[in-house]
Parts: sequence; C-alpha cells; structure tokens
Amino acid sequence: MEEKIKQRSRAGWGRAKQPVLCHCCVKEFIFCWTCRCGFAMCQACMNENLWGVTCNNIIWQCPDCGEWNGFGNQ
Ligand SMILES: [Zn+2]
Ligand SMILES: [Zn+2]
Repeated sequence: MEEKIKQRSRAGWGRAKQPVLCHCCVKEFIFCWTCRCGFAMCQACMNENLWGVTCNNIIWQCPDCGEWNGFGNQ
C-alpha cells in the first residue's frame, strides 16, 4: 500500500517574505518594486525617481532593461 506523500504541497509554507535588495540605495527591504529582469527599487527610491521612471503613476519603466511595469500589481 503506497500513499502519495509526494502530493503534499510544498508551496503551503516557506512563503515568508524575504528582503529584496534595492538596486538604487543598496539596502534590503521587505518590499521593492521589481522588474522581470531582476531589477528592484524600494519605495523610497521610487518616490525620489518617480519623475524619471513614470509619467502617469500607473506604470514605471525599468532603468535597466527599459521594460514597463505596473504599479500596485505585485
Ligand atoms: Zn532604495
Ligand atoms: Zn528590467
């Protein structure tokens, strides 16, 4: 008799928030705006650079790869 132990979900735990390294101020934050290329920017840096990365406060442009990312969608 074999029971499927493998089916036990591995995603249920270990989702504790890990600090993300902000690429601008090089500090770790629980939350950073991130791009799919791996670029991350903390909220403070985002506020400082808002004029440079967004023109409508809805999407921001990654300074690394130029990809557009949405606000409030993470
Ligand atoms: Zn920062
Ligand atoms: Zn990027």
